[in-house]
Amino acid sequence: MSDLREGVRRVFVESLSSAWFVELLRAIRRNRCAIVVMHRFATDHGVHIGHDPVAFRQLLSSLRKHRVSLVDVETAVRQYDDNESPGSANGLSVAFTIDDGYDDLLNVGEPIFAEFDCPFSAFVVPDVIEGKTWFWWDQVDWILRHSDRRAGTLALSERELRFAWSDEASRLAARTDIEQSLKQLSHNHLLSALDQLAQGAGVTLPVRAPAEYRVLDWNALRSAEARGVRFGAHSRSHPILSRCTDEHSHTEIMSSVVAVRSQFQNPVPMFCYPNGCDADFGTREYASVTSAGLRYALSTAPGVLQPKMADRFGNDWRMRIPRISYGESAGHIYRSFL
Ligand SMILES: [Zn+2]
Repeated sequence: MSDLREGVRRVFVESLSSAWFVELLRAIRRNRCAIVVMHRFATDHGVHIGHDPVAFRQLLSSLRKHRVSLVDVETAVRQYDDNESPGSANGLSVAFTIDDGYDDLLNVGEPIFAEFDCPFSAFVVPDVIEGKTWFWWDQVDWILRHSDRRAGTLALSERELRFAWSDEASRLAARTDIEQSLKQLSHNHLLSALDQLAQGAGVTLPVRAPAEYRVLDWNALRSAEARGVRFGAHSRSHPILSRCTDEHSHTEIMSSVVAVRSQFQNPVPMFCYPNGCDADFGTREYASVTSAGLRYALSTAPGVLQPKMADRFGNDWRMRIPRISYGESAGHIYRSFL
């Protein structure tokens, strides 16, 4: 990009965080709430790419400076549910959610949220917490990091995926290609493809997650709840539900909700779909979430809460609540209100 274009782009992005822009939003978009989905924070020792703590602190500072309300996700959703609290939504608000429950959530994220008195909720996965499995994308990452080889193939149902890497950037690109391909498979095929990948790479996958991929245990989570953090269910083992059989999908939802209820005093009364794009769940999952006794489910379909959700999106909106991905600048959130 030329210096001039880069300069124009920077001025434009910075203007989206400026006071006049937020006041304009407040005037033209009176009642909007963005639910932000985050995953991992960067750490000094981690092998993962995470959210930069410095940028996150600046983001929360901007939201506070511009008097954007920072609310708990349950409060956020109920204020747009006219059956619960008609017409209560007011102004611009943001709710933060963090999926998966890695340890940097409390080590890095919690102190920054506390600094700005900002509530947040996290969605956790019992089988991973209990060491029965670890996240499949972390297994892909581990395989590529530990293989002596620098190329491989993966026989998928209709094609063969070829990949190769020579440095960190090409390794990350190969990992992304593999992940995207695995997401298309049925859950059982995905598990056998992981075995095939490990075999082809000449490595043996550890049964338990290595330290860099570990999530928080129940004790740590319960201590965090006592400090005000809220937790909800994010499936039993984090498969993509639409790629599971009827029975498996139902069990993933029901048993994770039961586990979360048994561990926490005040769990978030919402289910959070693994992966969460529109193709990853459907009416079958809505029925399971409802039979688990929950009224709401969070997706990663982009969008914000706004008045008259049912009129705009149908009564099913409660089972497909939109969230915006974290973008490391307050401007990214302000833009979502447009
Ligand atoms: Zn997740």
